[in-house]
Amino acid sequence: MFVLVLNAGSSSQKSCLYSLEESIPDTPPKPLWEAHLDWTVAQSGGVLTVKSNDIRQRIEVEKKESALQILLDTLTTGKTKVLESFNDINAVGHRVVHGGAKYSQATVIDDEVKKAIASLIPLAPSHNPANLEGIETIEKLLPEVPQVAVFDTAFHTTIPQAAKVYPLPYEYYQKGIQRYGFHGISHQYCSQRTAQILQQPLESLKIVTCHLGNGCSLAAIDKGICIDTTMGFSPLEGLMMGTRCGSIDPQIPIYLMQKYGLNVENVNHLLNQESGLLGVSGVSGDMRAICKAMSDNNEQAQLAFNIYLYRLKKAIGAMVASLNGLDVLVFTAGVGENSAIVREKTCGGLSYLGLQLDLDKNNANPVDKNIAAEDSMVKILVIHTQEDWAIAQMAFNWTI
Ligand code: ADP
Repeated sequence: MFVLVLNAGSSSQKSCLYSLEESIPDTPPKPLWEAHLDWTVAQSGGVLTVKSNDIRQRIEVEKKESALQILLDTLTTGKTKVLESFNDINAVGHRVVHGGAKYSQATVIDDEVKKAIASLIPLAPSHNPANLEGIETIEKLLPEVPQVAVFDTAFHTTIPQAAKVYPLPYEYYQKGIQRYGFHGISHQYCSQRTAQILQQPLESLKIVTCHLGNGCSLAAIDKGICIDTTMGFSPLEGLMMGTRCGSIDPQIPIYLMQKYGLNVENVNHLLNQESGLLGVSGVSGDMRAICKAMSDNNEQAQLAFNIYLYRLKKAIGAMVASLNGLDVLVFTAGVGENSAIVREKTCGGLSYLGLQLDLDKNNANPVDKNIAAEDSMVKILVIHTQEDWAIAQMAFNWTI
């Protein structure tokens, strides 16, 4: 059985193919084929990198209209070929960034679901159109195959009203202004993997998951159910991120417009692309570059790092308050999985929770491991987030 996963972003398209037997394995398998189309690395056009059969191929792609078809063709032709025909594919899973308040779980795609994804374009202008394009391309190629939408917002639909509704006039909540939360596929996957790694029932655990990538968010998960998250109506709220500011006084954008004559587009760009680690450091939004600059005594980079950690610790404290306790703290995504110093500094400020890091374990490139000291009251896990695998499992469930 073959399951194809499409994960479309604003400037990239990631895709992979899993070969599965009758049941889902306990540990995540390696994909048989992986493709990554990136529109940001070359001056003109996109760069497609395909990995399969121990082969890595790089293809330059000129036009966006034909890019997805070129990407999919590498499944059935050339050196990276792994399928005789597209008809060998049994299900397709799509990561859909915004499912609004309506979709609380993965769902098979029909005309109604497509309309709903289209209607949410104003809330996810750079993602939902790319998702729809992927869905329609597959529809033409494989009209008989079930396509499943896996929403990044779905896991957060259980968040109670007190955490979901903003203190604005109520009519705006009725119009859809509420906390949606994002990175839900990753937070859910990490919570389930936590139970697997610790061999404890998910229903017995209070977990805070820290998804620290270019975008950063936390989730408070009680008995497997999400009860709070730091991202909100948009992926701009909450933690300080690579280029996004996270939570700031909401009066600031208004003041910037009044005092400095910035228009809506300028403010949008400033908060989403020019702020965060990049904005404060003036160096980069990439944590590796920040750490390098800190070792060269760059004071602004040090300040950016300090703010990032201060806000992270404060937000973990808020999630623990929502949960009224903590059994497991999970680190995941680019920074969470790879930066021992971020994990060390975060845990150092949380000793009041009875949380103790084992420094040797933390420094030993842990993957899917508990790095807490023996006597720590709280487990600390590093989990390699596998959103594509989570999507594949949900798509697979529709084939049986
Ligand atoms: P995305 O949110 O785009 O999926 P990732 O989860 O891949 O991003 O995270 C990307 C970020 O991870 C990079 O910007 C970089 O800051 C960080 N990162 C990756 N490797 C390391 C590392 N070894 N040390 C510190 N940060 C790292």
